[in-house]
Amino acid sequence: MKMYDMIIKNGTIVTASDVFKADVGVKNGVIVALGNNLKDDGADTIDAEGKYVFPGGIDVHTHLEMPFGGTVSSDDFTTGTIAAACGGTTTIIDFAVQAKGQSLEQTAETWHKKADGKAVIDYGFHIAITDMNEDILNEMPKAIKNGYSSFKLFMTYDGLRVNDDVLLKALIMAKENGGLICVHAENYYIINYLVKKFLKEGKVEPKYHALSRPTVAEAEAVSRAIKIASLADAPLYIVHLSCKESLIELARARAQGLPVMAETCPQYLLLSEERYEESDFMGAKYVMSPPLRSKDNLEPLWDGIARGDIQVVSTDHCPFFLKGQKELGRESFNKIPNGAPGIEARMALLYTNGVGTGKLSLQRFVEVTATNPAKIFGLYPSKGTIAVGSDADMVLFDPNVKKRVEKSELHENVDYTPYEGFEMTGYPVMTILRGKVIVEENHFVGQKGAGKFIRRQSPILL
Ligand SMILES: [Zn+2]
Repeated sequence: MKMYDMIIKNGTIVTASDVFKADVGVKNGVIVALGNNLKDDGADTIDAEGKYVFPGGIDVHTHLEMPFGGTVSSDDFTTGTIAAACGGTTTIIDFAVQAKGQSLEQTAETWHKKADGKAVIDYGFHIAITDMNEDILNEMPKAIKNGYSSFKLFMTYDGLRVNDDVLLKALIMAKENGGLICVHAENYYIINYLVKKFLKEGKVEPKYHALSRPTVAEAEAVSRAIKIASLADAPLYIVHLSCKESLIELARARAQGLPVMAETCPQYLLLSEERYEESDFMGAKYVMSPPLRSKDNLEPLWDGIARGDIQVVSTDHCPFFLKGQKELGRESFNKIPNGAPGIEARMALLYTNGVGTGKLSLQRFVEVTATNPAKIFGLYPSKGTIAVGSDADMVLFDPNVKKRVEKSELHENVDYTPYEGFEMTGYPVMTILRGKVIVEENHFVGQKGAGKFIRRQSPILL
């Protein structure tokens, strides 16, 4: 019997704590050896000389095949996970969004129907609770036990949002049962007021989407969510934190020792509000919530990642075609479906603009793209690191490849990328999922349906 099914030779392995040269031996989809000169003994051998070997990327914020504003996000679990895989991501956590009157179990079931047999990488679900009552609250412990250990609550959006009392009850219930509450933090009333005001004044262009959701609306909600969580003595995770005012609230809470964690996304690190001025409705490409911010928010967010106040970089991938979907809001910015694509270029953009500029160490890069997401969302140590006993999910990354982001090169099922023309140095050249090569030189070679649903454990608080 062979000792290994696969050996990755001569690569430079990067984990959240170390950078070292070693071979990786894989058997039955699991890493079984790390060492020098592993005997190949008939195993498939991959030469990673000159490449980094990173843990497979984990994107904990995606919206595949999600209904929004009368349409549905354009990547399904096949196209979206192929794009993720090509960018070096091997696990996603998507949001299963509760429809009115559905139980949490039915919500999960709805998302399983979208994903099972279709995903090409591993996946889990957060459950977004939009219709809370006593029964739903009491379903939370069972959902956690079944591996849906995180929940999202929206503090804004008609039809999705919950009030502060619901947030408080959910925080307590999650905490008592080993779950985690994630919040979309924006002040509903401020936004609602500004949207109505602009529309009344005939201000309908995409840029008014951004102007109706100012940073203060986010920072106020972040602050309120933190205070409610501290009252509940519960951990809290803030999704897509986008501005320095929110970061100040987060940093203050963490300095007090509160278990508050947060993610940001490449769009808030690399793009800014001038984009809304693009002519001929092209500002709609960037209509997402929270919106892009002024340039002076970018550096503080990078600093927040580097010093550890922000633990995760995810994408909030939620693509809509310009043609036929974003266009729904041509006459009125509040009808533009909210969201933008980004699942594929996350690792490469963060590497180029983070590691390549010296803002992030290699280890920190791995930490925020894989290790921390795995820890916070109950996947660690099976996922998120390169260690004996972990799943053999890895990305071979060539730090010298020069490439430009072009929609025509990406696999996302949408007609644009917000990062068109961005120069990159460094790109994934191979993606391995549980010991199987699924992407080679930007070509998907895996199998539809080979992705596995992962029942997640309780969070490790960071
Ligand atoms: Zn989202």
